[in-house]
Amino acid sequence: MLLFIVCGLFSCTQQQNNRQQTDNQTQKSLEAPVAFSADSCFAMLVAQTDFGPRVPGTAPHDACLAWLQGTLQRYGAQIELQKANLQAFNGTYLPSTNIIARYNLEATSRILLGAHWDSRPVCDNDPDDNHLNQPVLGANDGASGVAVLLELARLMSQQAPTIGVDLVFFDSEDYGNSDYDESFCLGSQYWAMKAAQNKYQARYGIVLDMVGGRGAVFKKEKVSVNYAGDFVDAVWRRAAQLGLGSLFVDAPGGTILDDHYYVNQAGIPCIDIIHYDYGFAPTWHTINDTPENIDPMVLASVGRLVTSLVYRPL
Ligand SMILES: [Zn+2]
Repeated sequence: MLLFIVCGLFSCTQQQNNRQQTDNQTQKSLEAPVAFSADSCFAMLVAQTDFGPRVPGTAPHDACLAWLQGTLQRYGAQIELQKANLQAFNGTYLPSTNIIARYNLEATSRILLGAHWDSRPVCDNDPDDNHLNQPVLGANDGASGVAVLLELARLMSQQAPTIGVDLVFFDSEDYGNSDYDESFCLGSQYWAMKAAQNKYQARYGIVLDMVGGRGAVFKKEKVSVNYAGDFVDAVWRRAAQLGLGSLFVDAPGGTILDDHYYVNQAGIPCIDIIHYDYGFAPTWHTINDTPENIDPMVLASVGRLVTSLVYRPL
């Protein structure tokens, strides 16, 4: 009896070892051939917040646009600037620029990766009334998604992917009034109109928003599930295979009207990777949305997943 138990334990341990080996092999085969750097990504986040809040119509917004353009040029992207004066809910015209940075133009199989590069003009979720009219620095809400895409651009300049990659940096996402959903995402609404006119095609899209917060978890956002449920499942499965299952939790998330909604309107199945867990992070739309509250390892984990999807496409 004792012998039986010992043998049983042995075979169980053997099975675990085998499974572990298979998991390691799967992870290795899905890892990108280039290494996503947490340090480089975080530096590109700080480069944005160093300009100050990137509110459309302000000097830091202009300066950040020039920097983004220069950086993407240096990383070998084919750049298109999509400029428009977009009318905000309060009648203000926002001088807006969506930046489209393309890689591997001749590839017919393409993926769209998006993030918004503007930041919010008001800290209207700040608990201190004195802060309500200050602009948000947007380290997480804006700069984090952009930083992940810029680090990916740096990697693509070192080794071209086999699929086509269109990085889209949406402007004027966060100038809205929370009473009107459609007052947000003005840049992506404009992009979607143009994309439909131009018959733009991509197999699928991923929007990154608030992907660097300390203690972030990413659940399956419901608009994404409605429009592209199979793709959501495949992306979360990939995350688990890469050992990122504790960050990309297999559970329903919130319903968020973000840039991905409008990409879906243009006929591209698109999902949102966004930190939302019964509410946004505590720094959301407050003066505390600063680099000190960013975890570079969260940025790097999201980056590893996206890089894997680019170099080992689904
Ligand atoms: Zn926001």
